[in-house]
Amino acid sequence: MSYLSIEHLDMSFVRGKLASQVLRDINLGVEQGEFISIIGHSGCGKSTVLNIVAGLLDPSLGGVILDGKEVRGPGPDRSMVFQNHSLLPWLTVYENVAVAVNKLFKRSMSRSERREWIEHNLRLVNMGHALDKYPQEISGGMKQRVGIARALSMKPKVLLLDEPFGALDALTRAHLQDEVMKIQKDLGNTMLMITHDVDEAVLLSDRIVMMTNGPSATIGEILSVDLPRPRDRIALADDPRYNHYRAAVLSFLHDRHRLQ
Ligand code: ADP
Ligand code: MG
Repeated sequence: MSYLSIEHLDMSFVRGKLASQVLRDINLGVEQGEFISIIGHSGCGKSTVLNIVAGLLDPSLGGVILDGKEVRGPGPDRSMVFQNHSLLPWLTVYENVAVAVNKLFKRSMSRSERREWIEHNLRLVNMGHALDKYPQEISGGMKQRVGIARALSMKPKVLLLDEPFGALDALTRAHLQDEVMKIQKDLGNTMLMITHDVDEAVLLSDRIVMMTNGPSATIGEILSVDLPRPRDRIALADDPRYNHYRAAVLSFLHDRHRLQ
């Protein structure tokens, strides 16, 4: 069995007497250390899949098994990064990470070990210089960095990212993508990321999961991206293999759009 196994997920939302099926028979196995992107048109159900894996939503049918245990509700083994950072505005950068670390590791780490661990995670995302800043004093890209540091600091088994770079300008987005690639190479995290950016999906992923349009969306195709790592965005821009993958995802999305 895969490290993370999504099995026969169906999801319907019920409002009054009306039920609308959003997801139909979603099956996906993710290996430890894999980077998976989920791509699909807006509204097809990507966030719903991620929220079910996070344990924030219960599926109508099917289930999720992580490292041999069935997901039942949220837990620190699955940490989330959202498109719009979810930092607490009255806490500093350091304190925003400390909230998670102090809660999870109060017993297993001493006070100084926790301090070192918080600072270590903020240094990983190049935020070591801004520990005492408040969220409103830093840029959007920096806030996303802190969100990523907080998610990593929880030592999750799988990191769930819902369009983490979607609200950033192109240059900031590119920087953060490169940093996430480096972190994943160094730490070997298992990552499940939603995106609607084709280049981002090809650059970062081991596999790209392409979802059909809703209602009753399911997985249409899964594309393995066999490009060597580390990946360099400049060099890849002229690489025929890169462009082949890019075209495959684009044509999937284009065909789906036309069919709708
Ligand atoms: P995506 O992330 O791919 O844009 P979502 O997973 O957010 O799509 O939503 C998929 C569909 O499910 C949409 O039609 C949305 O309106 C519906 N939906 C999502 N969450 C709920 C909810 N809590 N109640 C009712 N409908 C929902
Ligand atoms: Mg979404």
